[in-house]
Amino acid sequence: MLKLKDIHTYYGNIHALKGISIEVSKGEVISLIGANGAGKSTTLMTTSGVVPAKRGSIEFEGRDITHLPPDKIVKMGICQVPEGRRIFPYLTVAENLDMGAFLRKDTAQIKSDLDYVYDLFPILASRCNQTGGTLSGGEQQMLAISRALMCRPKMLLLDEPSLGLAPIIIKQIFSIIKKINEEHNTTIFIVEQNANLALKAAHRGYVMENGVITMTDTGENLRTNEDIKKAYLGI
Ligand code: ATP
Repeated sequence: MLKLKDIHTYYGNIHALKGISIEVSKGEVISLIGANGAGKSTTLMTTSGVVPAKRGSIEFEGRDITHLPPDKIVKMGICQVPEGRRIFPYLTVAENLDMGAFLRKDTAQIKSDLDYVYDLFPILASRCNQTGGTLSGGEQQMLAISRALMCRPKMLLLDEPSLGLAPIIIKQIFSIIKKINEEHNTTIFIVEQNANLALKAAHRGYVMENGVITMTDTGENLRTNEDIKKAYLGI
């Protein structure tokens, strides 16, 4: 479904991605793990067109999207939940969700998708008139995921969904990520520092160090790999 081939991305002189290749099949949950500054967020930003690649190619469902702008990439079905949520703090929950459906015109389907996200996260339904900035961190993460779901994504890009959240909320978020994948057949690409959770949730995983992919395997094989355990799981 998604093929990143030999991608190089720069911030000025900083060579953040040094020839990475990643493939994601339809229906998969893929996790990309790595330390701070490894290039995980840049991988998502490059996929969604926010920080374009300088070299290499990105294909989505057989179409070359390497040089498409972010809005065109969203329209094709790739939606990103950015690191740190970035919800609209002064808009209500309902208005934040409306913004997620901004590019859509299928009113009836938008209504049923709204029912779907309120069903996934009932707390958001009960807070629909509350402004986003007054929600807890966990609720803001739920809102950020829901806002992305309102774009009707074929593929959801999740940047550090566990960041700054309490363990019980992280567990809840990951179980809903699994549900979205299984019930809605949404393909999911997660980047995470919480390697244990991310690999548990993933069919396959990639490990990144200093802008390079150093290992790939099933989530389970990576989670039980001795080197990964030492480097990323603190075991
Ligand atoms: P983290 O988990 O801390 O977000 P990461 O693995 O997601 O780390 P990136 O944020 O992709 O890593 O950063 C990769 C490299 O690119 C790092 O060296 C970082 O300092 C650099 N970088 C990231 N964003 C920018 C930016 N806007 N301008 C300049 N350099 C950047």
